[in-house]
Amino acid sequence: MSSLNHRNPPFRAEHVGSFLRPDELLQVRHAWNDKKATDADLTAAEDKAVSQIVRLQQDLGFHGINDGEYRRHMFWGTFWSNLDGMEEIVGPDPEIFRAYVPDVAAFLEKNHKPGEAVVCTDKIRYSPAASKAHIEQIQYLQKILPKEKHDSIKLTIPAPTWYHLRYKEGKAYPKDVYKDDDEYFADVIAVFQKELLVLYDHGLRNVQIDDPNICYFCNSKMVEEFNNDPLNMIKADDLLAKYIDVYNKIMENVPQGLHVGIHLCRGNFVKSRHFTEGSYERIAVQLLEDLQVPTLYLEFDTEIAGGFGPLQHLPANKNVVLGVVSSEYPKLEDFDHTVARIYEAAQYIAKGSGKSEKESLNQVSVSPQCGFASHSSGNAVTWDDMVAKLKLVRRVADKIWPGEP
Ligand SMILES: [Zn+2]
Repeated sequence: MSSLNHRNPPFRAEHVGSFLRPDELLQVRHAWNDKKATDADLTAAEDKAVSQIVRLQQDLGFHGINDGEYRRHMFWGTFWSNLDGMEEIVGPDPEIFRAYVPDVAAFLEKNHKPGEAVVCTDKIRYSPAASKAHIEQIQYLQKILPKEKHDSIKLTIPAPTWYHLRYKEGKAYPKDVYKDDDEYFADVIAVFQKELLVLYDHGLRNVQIDDPNICYFCNSKMVEEFNNDPLNMIKADDLLAKYIDVYNKIMENVPQGLHVGIHLCRGNFVKSRHFTEGSYERIAVQLLEDLQVPTLYLEFDTEIAGGFGPLQHLPANKNVVLGVVSSEYPKLEDFDHTVARIYEAAQYIAKGSGKSEKESLNQVSVSPQCGFASHSSGNAVTWDDMVAKLKLVRRVADKIWPGEP
């Protein structure tokens, strides 16, 4: 199992992955969608844009280098839809969704269908076709970066729980395929263990799993509605415990040397929309104590995420990357205030662990609260806003941890 207490990664100045796409790339992707550009045209545009965003990250002093998710339309990519046993359904019946799950609710309110609907139709099995895009994304970064930087290449992947919470009891998988959630998740765990091994074999040493669903359990309204849903055979907090157990089982088989982080946020959609809110307080023990993952990338940029108090539960052998700079809103945060917030967070960590504030700071990094473009259309910020935010993250890290990457 990969050890906790991991550093570099996470680096002191971090980011969560996706970056704004250049217009040129968006235009080629739209043309490709309309069959007016070839696969080769799209790849060439992606290669060019990825090279530029990699250079920018290096110029700005970031070390966990990512491809900006430029080869994806949405942050979750195409992994799930390419697994054996999973199928994308076009025009899904709205009745299959739990309408109170915050992102589903946001779409249904506007009479939109919830985004891409991928459901289990047969036994879920690992498929090389699912890994293909991830491997190609890593390989291009390996091609353009010097060998000594390969260990810090960061790949984001979707959560193992991604296609579960949104579906009503009995709709996430056919009952003749899996008799219950435990059988379903046993196969999902095997698939994710295999995927991480495959990525490791291709040289990946730094992975971030994006799991916005976990933050839904911070929202007492969603929890109440979940618990009042007569179809549900489990309470919301027990389901969260199950999800955490899924991660812990995956982690049992992670190769030594592969750094794993999980990113949580309350949604980060086109035009800077979020889906849910609520402090980490409700889930602090489960998230920080029970979840055996070295690093958490947590949203803390606005009041919808609450204060740092829950960090008292952070054990001394885990890292937290504090997302105190907003990727959703263009206004640049004040430098001194941002530095002060990091110290404030460290005080809470110290209070819980009994260690000094200085030792607690050693568990901390700083980043934007989410990516700048979870959806390829991007947030309501400009390129210059994004660069200014990234520079601020670097400056804050340099002030608190001078000389550290
Ligand atoms: Zn996020």
